[in-house]
Amino acid sequence: MARVRRVFSYFLLFFVLVALDAWLFLFFYQQSLQGQEDHLEAVWEDIVYFPVPQSAYDKERFGVTFADSWMDSRKFGGERTHEGCDIMASLNERGKYPVVSMSDGYIEKMGWLKLGGYRIGVRSTRGVYFYYAHLSDYAPGLAVGDEVKAGELLGFMGDTGYSETEGTTGYFPVHLHVGIYLDEDGKEKSYNPYPFLKKLEGSKLTYWICD
Ligand SMILES: [Zn+2]
Repeated sequence: MARVRRVFSYFLLFFVLVALDAWLFLFFYQQSLQGQEDHLEAVWEDIVYFPVPQSAYDKERFGVTFADSWMDSRKFGGERTHEGCDIMASLNERGKYPVVSMSDGYIEKMGWLKLGGYRIGVRSTRGVYFYYAHLSDYAPGLAVGDEVKAGELLGFMGDTGYSETEGTTGYFPVHLHVGIYLDEDGKEKSYNPYPFLKKLEGSKLTYWICD
């Protein structure tokens, strides 16, 4: 009889441990899902304008297109995945298309990167990191630490990057690479900008410069 009781108590202990484990897993899993949603909520709340305004003169000629290419494979700089969305210029000319900040925030990073060329990183009000890459030029006077408003000029679309040598151009067509990163447990995590850009297509600023 004692043996049966012992076996039974082992069984009970085992069952309790499994149940506890399952409960802990579900608890933390739900927490992480909730965390992600809270994070994405920050992106939805902070985005205001599409990063490339449209020309008042010729929407077609100065138009842009983009597709969902998030996590596509990329070869330059080793096997990797595409952490962003590319907004392609219909006119393949660097320095033609203005690039504006999608959100309020401040300039956290500027300067040359091997992959991104001349890039700007804007940290938004709710802590989202918006990364704009391959610029041909920066807006005059812009510096790290500056506050920016949504719609403020950051620079111009270009084809810089894919080299250690600062100022390298021409390895790909003129486009704006947009990345969206969120800080999660001290690590930057990439999110797909496509749905956000799709939403912002209806919120484009207009500009009047033309030549
Ligand atoms: Zn890209």
